[in-house]
Amino acid sequence: MHRCQEILPPGVCNLLNPAAICSNNEICLGDIEIYGFDYDYTLAQYSDMLHKKIFITARDILMQQYKYPEEIKKYDYIPGFAIRGLHYDVQKNLLMKIDAFHYIQLGTAYRGLKPVPDEEVIESYGGTPHIPLIEMSDFYGKGPTMKQFMDIFSLPEMTLISCVTDFFISHGIDFDPAHLYKDTTDAIRDVHVKGMMYDWIEKDMEHYILHGEDIFAVLNRLVKHNKKLFLITNSPFSFVDKGMKHMVGKNWRDLFDVVIVRADKPAFFTDRRKPFRRLDEGGSLQWDKINNLEKGKIYKQGNLFDFLRLTGWRGSKVLYFGDHLYSDLADLMLRHGWRTGAIVPELENEIRIINTEQYMHSLTWQQALTGLLERMQTYQDAESKQVLKEWMKERQELRSVTKNLFNPQFGSIFRTFQNPTYFSRRLIRFSDIYMASISCLLNYNIDFTFYPRRTPLQHEAPLWMDQLCTGCMKTPFLDEMVHVR
Ligand SMILES: [Mg+2]
Repeated sequence: MHRCQEILPPGVCNLLNPAAICSNNEICLGDIEIYGFDYDYTLAQYSDMLHKKIFITARDILMQQYKYPEEIKKYDYIPGFAIRGLHYDVQKNLLMKIDAFHYIQLGTAYRGLKPVPDEEVIESYGGTPHIPLIEMSDFYGKGPTMKQFMDIFSLPEMTLISCVTDFFISHGIDFDPAHLYKDTTDAIRDVHVKGMMYDWIEKDMEHYILHGEDIFAVLNRLVKHNKKLFLITNSPFSFVDKGMKHMVGKNWRDLFDVVIVRADKPAFFTDRRKPFRRLDEGGSLQWDKINNLEKGKIYKQGNLFDFLRLTGWRGSKVLYFGDHLYSDLADLMLRHGWRTGAIVPELENEIRIINTEQYMHSLTWQQALTGLLERMQTYQDAESKQVLKEWMKERQELRSVTKNLFNPQFGSIFRTFQNPTYFSRRLIRFSDIYMASISCLLNYNIDFTFYPRRTPLQHEAPLWMDQLCTGCMKTPFLDEMVHVR
């Protein structure tokens, strides 16, 4: 580790810009005529206060309505316990991170609040940390015994399951984890469905909604450049209306050509049966048959097939932004050919960590050791073998150090030790571009073209990997992004 200073090129820390937009697929904004948006966590970013409140409310629902022991009240929300994209094995009661090849990242399997030893995890899957696809998840992250937690609201849900499990285990209470999972999920759902969450946000928008002022700037700039705008959200109109008035102003609807609420995504994208219904100004349902989607009107439900027919907004001239890879983006990308933008708020903090000297040092030394191991493995005498063994041990320690910088339990949402996570793989598959928040759009010209880095495949030479040789800007370096705040 001490030699790292020599290996590390000068000035490599603090290079990346957390407000950059990253591209998986080449996309020219000049070709985009129509911009669509999800609402929660896409236009409206909520503060972490919301997670704590959801946790406490669902915990109390468990006690009061599901008659869980009063003692679970001693558990408070643990910020930073879970990360998004984790898988939960309902029967084995294991919360864990899985990589792009369906392997559990060892050291990241938790039962309750405690890590489960690697050997036990491997044993419980029949002698391998590999999870068969059939167990894992369907298209939307739900498998027969596993669920992937993909939305940002699921952070309090994972934490609550872990806390209640911890209580049952530490008190020697016999329980079926399937019941616990069902109750917890239902309690969390009650917080949403019964409108409690909407109430809190509506009553204290100053505290719950972050960076509202940027949203007006983003939307207004698009409209000024003659782009069409639409909104498709699962939330109810009164909630969206109040939030948008807070962020954008009372005339926010003037900016949008089509507004659809209670859309019931992801079924909205696949199910043709539900027609659009119009809401009047008071939010009451109307009975008329919808033959066109008019600006200034509010529509409920509907489906994408009718939407395409009525608007003619098809294919790659449409760019839709959402935070949920499955509910918002997967169907659009795979079935309908719209371009997609993923909002990944975690990106900001993860890039800040990547920018630290500590991360750079431990990653550089880890890679140097990996290179040494690869080259020196042919030396098989006793002394060399001993050295190789020590290097392997040190590499393993460094990988844990690097992981812990992001989150002590589960590490980064994007990588297991060296592989992309299951989450990352889905992100790359379902989004053309991704960014920490919609306001990142303000940093780029309205007709900017995003060219993804030509990442070398394993059989290719890394000759054109970066701007190092070509002078093209691919990595979001701060220096070269004077146009980005
Ligand atoms: Mg959302």
